Amino acid sequence: MQEPQQLRIFKFGGASVKDAAAIRNLVHITQTYGQPGPLVVVVSAMGKTTNALEEIFQLAHSGQEYTAQLTALRNFHLQVAAELGTTDEATGTPALAELLEQLQDRLATLQPGDFDKQYDQVVSFGELLATRIVARAMQAQWLDCRTLIRTDHTWREGRVAWPATERLLTSILPERLAHGPVVTQGFLGGTSSGQTTTLGREGSDYTAAILAYCLGAASVTIWKDVAGLLNADPKIFADTVRYPEISYQETIEMAYYGASVIHPKTIKPLAVKQIPLLVKSFVDPAAEGTVIHDCRHGLLVPALIRKTGQCLVSFESKDLTFISEENLEVIFGALAQVRLKIHLMQNSAISFSVCTDFSAYRLEKLLGVLREQFTIHYNTGLELYTIKNYDAASIRRLTEGRELLLEQRTRQTFQFVCRGGENEWIK
Ligand code: ASP
Ligand code: MG
Repeated sequence: MQEPQQLRIFKFGGASVKDAAAIRNLVHITQTYGQPGPLVVVVSAMGKTTNALEEIFQLAHSGQEYTAQLTALRNFHLQVAAELGTTDEATGTPALAELLEQLQDRLATLQPGDFDKQYDQVVSFGELLATRIVARAMQAQWLDCRTLIRTDHTWREGRVAWPATERLLTSILPERLAHGPVVTQGFLGGTSSGQTTTLGREGSDYTAAILAYCLGAASVTIWKDVAGLLNADPKIFADTVRYPEISYQETIEMAYYGASVIHPKTIKPLAVKQIPLLVKSFVDPAAEGTVIHDCRHGLLVPALIRKTGQCLVSFESKDLTFISEENLEVIFGALAQVRLKIHLMQNSAISFSVCTDFSAYRLEKLLGVLREQFTIHYNTGLELYTIKNYDAASIRRLTEGRELLLEQRTRQTFQFVCRGGENEWIK
């Protein structure tokens, strides 16, 4: 008897669809490694499109001129489609032009307020455009995942409604997959009332995991511009090392500390169902890459992680009372309310400090909530370094010559905050 064919999920990020040549390479990879058997291809926005859409959205939302940026974005997509021979004229369907028109309409009708909600309605076009182009290039089916990945109304970080999502996916996908590969958007979801949500920046990895979990995939492969899961970002650190295999647990922790490897929410659904996650190079697809699965390993090479754009906020109680549980409760509540995530924290008798991403908008809101009760200072332009599985040499390598503003050490992890070094390269 023939084995039932096992579903694979391939995820391609922005760099792997950054131009026509990259998309041709994607098509080659899906043909070479995605057969036989059912294949879902999850695609992010092309190149730096999400950043461009964020900028356009911000301009439009604040009533400023954005035509030049929008035209550039539009021409870029049309140009790539033309190079691939997948223009709308060629196939007789107006899809790409239609999407571009929808985007333009959305921008023209933005309302003041409701920033996060409207962000999702605009920034989601990056994935919609990219998948249209890729689906055509692959001659595969295009699927709008906003009708299948159901989330709540947490704009820009939609929380997945798992039972509904599973029901929707299992009722639609098997039938579609019987007709060949399916291309769908990373990063996007939809509410029960049909509004678009996004899952958080870099959320396409998570999309692949949601699909794999709900459909019982045999594996997920993330195709990247590096050789696999590395101990550090080679754009920042010299002498990086690839982990040939690594456990779900270790990977979750690295992602949590901000390693730009994989979106932090990706691992849990895969671990629950024991679905292996393969990280492979789209530049050298035959190379081994990394397998993330349930495994035990000895001591790992220290992982080095840098988060830029950090700020250190410190709270002092105005009446010089000690920082108490009651005070902390108020501070944590306010941080959650303005959606500032704590990356590191420390308290002393009368002050409490947290390291978070710098957002002028969210900090202003935070000050508004807490100003009465606390004196608040903050430093911006900082970096947070994390060394997971540290040793003396790795600590020396990163701390040498730096003034540490905050430092913390646990059994496995060493972290510190320091002033930003202009994105310097670390040897
Ligand atoms: N395009 C989105 C972003 O750049 C999602 C992703 O790339 O995973 O954040
Ligand atoms: Mg991306």
